[in-house]
Amino acid sequence: MQSIPILDNHIHLDRRGRFLDAVRDFVNSGGTHIVLVSKPSWTIGINIIQAEDYKKVFDETLTIAKAVREQGVGVFVVLGVHPAEISKLIEHRPLEEVVDLMKQGLDCAGKYVEKQLAVGLKSGRPHYPVSKEIWDASNHIIEHAMILSRELDCAVQLHTEDTTIRMLHELQDIVKKTGMSPQRVVKHYAPPMIKEFENTGLFPGIISSKHAVEEALQTSARFVMETDYIDDLKRPGAVLGPKTVPKKTKKLIEVYGTEPFYKVHKENPEKIYQIEINL
Ligand SMILES: [Zn+2]
Repeated sequence: MQSIPILDNHIHLDRRGRFLDAVRDFVNSGGTHIVLVSKPSWTIGINIIQAEDYKKVFDETLTIAKAVREQGVGVFVVLGVHPAEISKLIEHRPLEEVVDLMKQGLDCAGKYVEKQLAVGLKSGRPHYPVSKEIWDASNHIIEHAMILSRELDCAVQLHTEDTTIRMLHELQDIVKKTGMSPQRVVKHYAPPMIKEFENTGLFPGIISSKHAVEEALQTSARFVMETDYIDDLKRPGAVLGPKTVPKKTKKLIEVYGTEPFYKVHKENPEKIYQIEINL
């Protein structure tokens, strides 16, 4: 069997979690590369008072990336501001200030992209019901992230509510407005709605649970695979484990061959993030 890279498009690691044990699970199952996404500030005990505090979050992600690379894993970093941050920050300040702070957090992440320490930004809007004010504010933050990504020539990962055709069109509108390339916008935690994604140009990061990947392959290999592993010892089983993407890939290669997975794990992420993925 031809050996191909195996990449998890959205994974978090925490030094207080299983950390390198989780990485070893990934590697021993056949995983070779990860897109490491910064954790929401509050989950790693960082209190955001001012924009500079985001540096602590991002520096922590880079420290983790370095340790993972030492395990022989290819690591690409995505940094940003988790959309649920808006609900935390609003407890202590007016919405206008919250929006400014979150935009500045993204600007701060952009500095890491400029220095080639990260390949993309993370933004989005809450996955739970919020007021119209917070919803509109979140859309403004997404817009800011996309303008920034276009200027920096990097990718953007979006965390949003459940995927619907309407939602894809709303995101497509923001993409058009900002001039960002839709191919470089990854909807993280996506269902296998491959055709719908193709129609809008956005890229799906398929959450690799149950038969999602098989379903996606019925249409095409225009997707990447992810677990959204959160590495939180207090929430075991809250999301998929680090073995999922390599195990599923290896199992499905027996049925579909390596060709679609060469696209999924190499060609697609290389195009999205403009990176090189080699074994
Ligand atoms: Zn995540």
